[in-house]
Amino acid sequence: MDISYIINHLGEENENYFNAIAPPIIQTSNFSFPTVNEMRKAFEDEMGGYLYSRGLNPTVDILRKKLAALDGAEDALVFNSGAAAIFAGVLSNVKSGDHILSVHHPYSWALHMFDKILPRFGVTVTYADGSDTEAFLSNAQSNTTFIYLESPNSWWLDIQDLKAIASFARSRGIITMIDNSYCTPLYQKPIEMGIDLAMQTATKYIGGHSDTLGGVLSGSSSTMRKIFESEYLCVGSGIQPFNAWLLLRGLRTLPARIDRITASTIKVLEYIKSVKQIESFIFPLDPSFSQYELASKQMSGACGLISFYMKAHKIEEIEQFCNSLKSFRMAVSWGGHESLIIPKCAGIPVNDFNPENPAHRMLRLYVGLEDPDFLIKDLQQAFESI
Ligand SMILES: *Cc1c(COP(=O)(O)O)cnc(C)c1O
Repeated sequence: MDISYIINHLGEENENYFNAIAPPIIQTSNFSFPTVNEMRKAFEDEMGGYLYSRGLNPTVDILRKKLAALDGAEDALVFNSGAAAIFAGVLSNVKSGDHILSVHHPYSWALHMFDKILPRFGVTVTYADGSDTEAFLSNAQSNTTFIYLESPNSWWLDIQDLKAIASFARSRGIITMIDNSYCTPLYQKPIEMGIDLAMQTATKYIGGHSDTLGGVLSGSSSTMRKIFESEYLCVGSGIQPFNAWLLLRGLRTLPARIDRITASTIKVLEYIKSVKQIESFIFPLDPSFSQYELASKQMSGACGLISFYMKAHKIEEIEQFCNSLKSFRMAVSWGGHESLIIPKCAGIPVNDFNPENPAHRMLRLYVGLEDPDFLIKDLQQAFESI
């Protein structure tokens, strides 16, 4: 399906709302029925219509259809955060006694779920480096029922061979799920590579303006129905109509923003390569990347996030650099209009800083929508200030 069609037309029934171009925000908690029989039908199949907005809602449905189509999936559910989408995707597919094989360094709240919540219910997790497929899959046990991927992952931007892992998992009846937030479906289509569940945070690129949270989970109709009728309705973590509307609005410009960010990222990367104070950097589509070949094969693009290691003997040097930035804001998250930086040492007690540990000297840049020359000037003056 044409991306322009999906983003600008699919799922919209303008004639039902005065031919307005912008879809309405159906800000309602409940829906009424003219007859007992119609109410009965809604109770029998809540996914077949509108009953209560903890379930389906017309504004959310427009978004849901577009996001499923972008992922090339039969259906999708939209949550009020990416973390909620991860929670539902994992929780709905494991039971006591099951084992999960996860990539190492998954997103922090996936990690929290695996380490702190699931063990209370008898689910165990093994973390392994996903860059070596054979070694990664050798951690599968007889009770492994779920494989959790994040490609590229946060910070290290490690990638996994999605086709190979999906094919192994299918042959064993293991469910696979990926956090596809870095690429979005514009740059990577995991469902087409055989992955069962594709998750992305909509807070980042889909929203694009740092003004709402959201999360997407897509997959087969039967899987989405199973999740809808249980975890989605029970936890009540579906997105609210106004936030869904903001995401629809963000979606309109997604390809244009991704194009712009991609071009700017290449320029900023060229600058990064020239900086004396930078020891090395990580960007999946740079030939220096350790998994460049695989990245070029399964990703049609990369943008926004660049990680790098600073040459620093003292934490003060990194702090001075970050504190001097004016155009890059220091904040978590990414995917919005504004460029960001986050130093790993912000999460480390000052006295624990060890320059021998490269991870302590790691920083992550997000290149937003500003003029790349404006951003490079800011980086320049900050490096000069050290
Ligand atoms: C931000 C993020 C999430 C969580 O999304 P929220 O919308 O913040 O809950 C999950 N995975 C990755 C890779 C992220 O960067």
